[in-house]
Amino acid sequence: MDDLEMMYQEVILEESRNPYHKLYEIEDPNRSHQFNPTCGDDITVAVTIDDDIVSGVNFAGEGCSISIASTSIMAQLVEGKTTEQVFELADLFTELMNSRGAGLDDDKLDKLGDASVFVGTSKFPARIKCALLGWVALKGALTNQGVSSAQNKHTE
Ligand code: ZN
Repeated sequence: MDDLEMMYQEVILEESRNPYHKLYEIEDPNRSHQFNPTCGDDITVAVTIDDDIVSGVNFAGEGCSISIASTSIMAQLVEGKTTEQVFELADLFTELMNSRGAGLDDDKLDKLGDASVFVGTSKFPARIKCALLGWVALKGALTNQGVSSAQNKHTE
């Protein structure tokens, strides 16, 4: 493990210890609950949308440090973005997790901000689902509010 990966590992651990907007329970009827049986991660995400802007993301649940840290970093990253940008970020993060440790070009990593610390996780197939779980729940919570990505709209 090189210095950068060690630093990324630290960020993930630190984030999992002090997650952002993690609640005890989510009451929102549009919440999306996701479970990763291979690791036991159990995450529920709720999202508030104002005028097509994601104004707040809350989550609840239990999981490994990767799943909790990834959901926490995601919540901070997407707040203030349009729903379209959020779907784009979800696609970019999925691309990062499918990169087998190779990462993405700088432009894409810039957009992902702190979420790019999970580049090392993409080397471990068993952990990719941990990192993606919160994003899947976020997309589910958006879909439950009737929001879908433009990409899906075009193909319908
Ligand atoms: Zn996990």
